[in-house]
Amino acid sequence: MRRVRYAPSPTGLQHIGGIRTALFNYLFARSGGGEFLLRLEDTDRTRYAPEYEKNLYDTFAWLGLHWDEGPDVGGPSAPYVQSRRTELYRRRAEDLLETGRAYRCFCSAERLEKLRAEREAARSSETGYDRHCRNISAEESARRAAAGESFTVRLAIPLAETPGGPGPETRFTDKLLGDIEWKNGDINPDPVLFKSDGFPTYHLANVVDDHLMGITHVLRAQEWLSSTPLHVILYGALGWKPPEFCHLPMVMGQDGKKLSKRHGATSIDEFRRQGYLPEALLNYVALLGCSYEEGKDIYTLEELGRLFSLDKLNKAPAVFDYKKLEWYNGQYIRMKGDAELAELTLPMAVEQGLFAGEPSGEERARYTAAMPLVRERANFLHEVPSRLAYLFRDPPVPAAEEYIPKKLDLPSAVKLLRLGRELVPALAAADEGEAERRVKEKAEAEDLKLGDLLMPLRAAVTGSRVSPPLFGSIRLLGTERCLARIDAALAVLESAGGVR
Ligand code: GLU
Ligand code: ZN
Repeated sequence: MRRVRYAPSPTGLQHIGGIRTALFNYLFARSGGGEFLLRLEDTDRTRYAPEYEKNLYDTFAWLGLHWDEGPDVGGPSAPYVQSRRTELYRRRAEDLLETGRAYRCFCSAERLEKLRAEREAARSSETGYDRHCRNISAEESARRAAAGESFTVRLAIPLAETPGGPGPETRFTDKLLGDIEWKNGDINPDPVLFKSDGFPTYHLANVVDDHLMGITHVLRAQEWLSSTPLHVILYGALGWKPPEFCHLPMVMGQDGKKLSKRHGATSIDEFRRQGYLPEALLNYVALLGCSYEEGKDIYTLEELGRLFSLDKLNKAPAVFDYKKLEWYNGQYIRMKGDAELAELTLPMAVEQGLFAGEPSGEERARYTAAMPLVRERANFLHEVPSRLAYLFRDPPVPAAEEYIPKKLDLPSAVKLLRLGRELVPALAAADEGEAERRVKEKAEAEDLKLGDLLMPLRAAVTGSRVSPPLFGSIRLLGTERCLARIDAALAVLESAGGVR
């Protein structure tokens, strides 16, 4: 059976790249009846912060993406937090010391820093550790450790016999990228597996856990590809079979550079604050580097879970298109019912000051009833209340010129608005079809263009020449409020000299 994992290090806010990795693992599990688990890779204690862990849980709760096993829900491979598994890693590090596949390095941080600085000064192309301690005898190594000298454990990357020779190669097959071969000489020279602070490094903890947790497939971002040869060597050194690897296509901005803050929002928190819906975000992210069905854009999570497969992944990098995501968001807003859309956006309405304080029952009902007026146009949740503000607070009374239809003058605007005013009680009580009929009748009887009749009325009632549907607005505002606004508008027109 498939077992996959999302293994974030809580060292930053959850972002698009991480969510994409998590989602693809989730979908891969769903599509094959497998299990998806969460593992916290929190062994880098210098970069760990509890708020990032909280952000992880909050983000996934908001997205509605759940794991089958994890720190919060438990499971047979518990604990799922690496900082609580250090004994497991220590044991494997000791095994590796015993078999000679790893060795103790007693170099001080100062020595390593000096090495780095010297190489830099000499413009040497060599980087990383110089394998200084690799040839310390087992006896000496054990003696120094027993004497309390501080050390790290390093993996002995297998090298060719001849110093400076090409070295053997490490091979593996990536599900997406195919056969990959690395010269061992090009692998990070003898990386640290276990640190002097008693914590493992990413490499050791990751490999040990993937093995112990029965992970069958590692789907992760392509930036980890260069660690994989090392992991393959480590699996071999521990006598274990490596899982299948699949390194996911990169996610780029439109300029072809790796997606970053320079391109726009990347943290999920930020998208959330900007009024995106989790369904829209998941739907769009599912398409970053994977194609499902020709000509179909909208997928539920459940559908994606059925359709996903590794051979639908694209090798080419995915381009993150903020406009496309906005389109998705609009589509998902259109799919919401009145009650749900109102509930989702009511807190934003309160924040935007639509109501004097906490909304009354009547205001809530009016707000919910107003959803059809904006649902077709809004692409972001906060646009829903901001486009409806005029229904709850009197907008500033527009200046005289705002009521004058093209090619007409002030006195005719007054006349048109007075005609409109007469219609209001009937419009407030009419449904959409009936309202349209009434207005058309009136325009015909008075020999007016429909647009000319409606334009001053719209400006007076909604406070703007462009607004959500007028008749719906009149219905929701009610006769009294509409007439008061119209009278205020007429006063402006009259004092501007529009009296006839
Ligand atoms: N902890 C690593 C990360 O932060 C996990 C990489 C992997 O999936 O192996 O992404
Ligand atoms: Zn050393």
